[in-house]
Amino acid sequence: MALTAWQVHATLSRSAANGPGTRFVVWTQGCSLGCEGCFNPETHAPGGTPRSPADVAAEALAEPGVEGVTISGGEPLEQPEPLREFCALIRPSGLGIIVLSGFSRAEIEANPRRLAAVQDVDMVVAGRYNPRLYLGAGLRGSSNKEYWAITPRYREEDLAAVPEGEVVISADGTVTVTGMHAWGGR
Ligand code: SF4
Repeated sequence: MALTAWQVHATLSRSAANGPGTRFVVWTQGCSLGCEGCFNPETHAPGGTPRSPADVAAEALAEPGVEGVTISGGEPLEQPEPLREFCALIRPSGLGIIVLSGFSRAEIEANPRRLAAVQDVDMVVAGRYNPRLYLGAGLRGSSNKEYWAITPRYREEDLAAVPEGEVVISADGTVTVTGMHAWGGR
């Protein structure tokens, strides 16, 4: 399998606010969709850290006791090839895979590169964020976004029960606030 550079904003080894159970999270760098009130504006500009999907997958697979991985952004589907490679490496492990995307299901299905990138994904949370339709819980962020279950692994009820947010303090004192929270005043 070819190694494709993946522009990554950050990873988090254990999260309880990015899907059911404990999850490894990847935030990709770069998004051109420009949703008003976006939770992660620091991920919009190009850049980030170039990483190989295999390297990030090895990091995820080394984490004990996680239920699955979540790929967020930035916009994961603006880098479809490394996303596809990453998911193909995760799939044989049995971990679940959730992708949070600003593209709608129709936009993904209409683009062969994006559609190929989600072939090993269990659930895509799809569509632009709309701050006027903000939800205080679950993974959709706003009620216009769609849960697209590609496999039966996750049910909408499971995702709707995900906590609004979390604060993670790592061993080196780094503080990460994550999830679909509105704690920044949106
Ligand atoms: S698609 Fe996601 S990262 Fe991009 S602007 Fe919209 S909410 Fe923000």
